[in-house]
Order: sequence, then C-alpha cells, then structure tokens
Amino acid sequence: MERDRVRSPESRWAWVEVDLAALRRNTAAFRRLIGRGTQMMCVVKADAYGHGAVACAKTMRAAGADQFAVATVAEGVALREAGIEWPILILSEPPVDCVRTLVEHDLMPSVYTADFALALGEAAASAGRVARYHLALDTGMTRIGVRRGDVVELRRTIDFHRGLECAGTFTHFATADVPDDWDFALQLNRFRESVEALRGAGLETGLVHCDNTPGTVMHPECRFDMCRVGIGLYGLHPADVTRVRLELEPVMSVRGRVTRAVYPSVGDGVGYGLTWRVPKQNIQVATVPIGYADGLARELSNNMDVLVDGCRCRQVGNICMDQFMFAVDVNSARSYRPSRPVEYGDVVTLIGSDGDERITADEMARLRNTINYEVVCDFGMRLEKIYT
Ligand SMILES: *Cc1c(COP(=O)(O)O)cnc(C)c1O
Repeated sequence: MERDRVRSPESRWAWVEVDLAALRRNTAAFRRLIGRGTQMMCVVKADAYGHGAVACAKTMRAAGADQFAVATVAEGVALREAGIEWPILILSEPPVDCVRTLVEHDLMPSVYTADFALALGEAAASAGRVARYHLALDTGMTRIGVRRGDVVELRRTIDFHRGLECAGTFTHFATADVPDDWDFALQLNRFRESVEALRGAGLETGLVHCDNTPGTVMHPECRFDMCRVGIGLYGLHPADVTRVRLELEPVMSVRGRVTRAVYPSVGDGVGYGLTWRVPKQNIQVATVPIGYADGLARELSNNMDVLVDGCRCRQVGNICMDQFMFAVDVNSARSYRPSRPVEYGDVVTLIGSDGDERITADEMARLRNTINYEVVCDFGMRLEKIYT
C-alpha cells in the first residue's frame, strides 16, 4: 500500500493503484494458456478498463502481447504517440472523417460498410500506402459487423481497391461466458460458415479471431489465429465459470485518506438529504475525498463498506460528487469492529486489500447491480493512477 509516497503538490488524497507486476503475471498466464501458435491481442479500450492504457500496453507487450485493441481512434492515436509500435485494431468502424488519421497513425479499423472501406482505401492510396483493416461479422449479437449473407458481396465490392488489405476477419460472442450455450454454438457455426464462404470465393481473410476472455478460457476449440483478451488481464473474471479454470490477480486498488474525522451529536445527519443520522454516542464520522465523479457510484450510498486498518466500516450518508463519509464505531457489536478511532491522514481502501480484509471489484459490482468491468472503468475517470 502506498502509504507514504511523496506525490505532486496538486495530488488529492485519493488514487488508483495499478499493480503492474500482477498485470504482467496475468498477461503471462494468458500467453501460456493460448499457446505459441495463436496470437494474443490485448484489449486496452477505455484507458485499459480504467487502469491506464500506455503503462498497461507496455507491460503487456513485455509479457507476450502480439497486438492491441482499442475502442476509439483517439485511444489508438494516444498509444501511437506514446511510442507503442505494435498493430492496433479499433473494435468498431469509426466515422468516415477519421480515415486520414487512421492511415497517418497506422491504425486498423474494423470494417463493415463499403462506403467506409472505399474512403479508407482512397486515403491510403493518396498517401502512397495500403490500409490494413479487419472485417467484422455480425453472427448474432446485433451490434457491429456485416450481416451474414452480405459478407462475400461486401468484399467483392471493395476488394478491387489497391489501397486496402484485409488483415483479419472476426466476430464477437454475446454469450461466451454461458456454459453449453445454444446461442454461442449458433454464432460459432455462422462464423465458421462465413469464413468458409470467403475462402471459397478466393478472398483473403487475414487472421481469423473471435474469442474474448471467457471464450479464450472456456472454448479452446475456437481460438483460430488470435484471441482478444480484455478483462482477464486486469485480474477480473467475466463469470464464475472462468474462476475455477484460471487463477488471476486483481490489478487495481482504490484508496484515499481521511481528510476529517469528528464525533457528531446523536441525531446529527450526514450528507445531502441527511439520509443517515448518528444513532448513538461515540460514533465517529470521517470524510474521504472520493465521490461519484471519481467513479464511486452514488447508488452505493449507505450500502457499502470501506477498509481502515484492516477493518470494515460502513459508508454513511449520500455519496457526494467529490467526497463521501463513513462511520467508525469502536464499540460496535459487529465482528469486524475497528480497534481504534480513525485519524486525519489514515488510508482508506475502497477496492483492494488492507491487512486480512479485502474488498473486490466483484463485491462492489454486486452491490451496484452491475459487472466488474463497469466498476474499474468508472474509477479510471478522474483519480490519479500510481503504478507499483
Ligand atoms: C471488449 C471486447 C473484447 C474483450 O472482452 P473481454 O470480455 O474484456 O475479454 C473483445 N472483443 C471485442 C470486440 C470487444 O469489444
């Protein structure tokens, strides 16, 4: 835990710790699982799921990443400007105005319309280059991609262009985390058929890929030429079914420090709306400078714990935009009663370990009725990141 680190004079008492050694071990674990014959594309969209894309991509590269994937052109440009030289795929077809930027920074878009593909080809040709792209297929998720049935025709419409090269063909599963799922099998069949149809028509497919994290872990039979691994690299499981197959270490911890601790009177209210009132004497209420603008969802108000000194304490009152409060009751009947009052500057853990206690992104996701993906993305928004 970064208790005593000297930070910049603008630092808040609030930060995300990113354990790059854990990230390296997780990446290496996927590298071993996937095996030598198959490439590993590491997904670093949304600033590496809130963990910081540049530092994460460098660590992943050193641990065996072959390629990277991002969601937006801006995310791809940021990686290039930070000196990441490996192939980068944009996981959807960006607006057509982006084609020159894509060519300039050697970013591969996903392609599924002829208009976009031809504009990309023109931009590449006029720069004296060839633009590499991946053909996206909609096999059943109804999000992005060419609809099956139109796949060969699209390629026939665009393939004449000498500014274009198909470097990959992929699809995305809606239910790769559901064991023995009929819809998954259906998507996989449709994908196989489309790839066969392209090959049958004499069209180059480039790298064929479809597995995300749960697919990579649960479905070794459909890794094809490359796996696209995201959430697992950050030490989080997409579903309980992958938990028993592979051991991973969480990469992100979220901590702050107590900026104020007082003993209010019995009956005093806490926070906007005074939704929590001090029920008895000798309850301490402490403030931490982390709020919903930092990713601590307001719906967790009065319904989450934090760790101090290895003990759980209840968060109380409505979570504010930039701060929240928690109660400390050293006389509590709860088994995890804190051993001492908190003091100004004490470290408070929202996600991560403190002593023998731990709060996971999964615990917070359950309380928010969402998935761990959203919890870590949210904490990536504004908090300073400290790489350990
Ligand atoms: C986000 C994403 C992935 C990675 O998914 P995880 O479940 O995080 O492994 C892979 N492929 C596509 C197309 C995605 O959008």
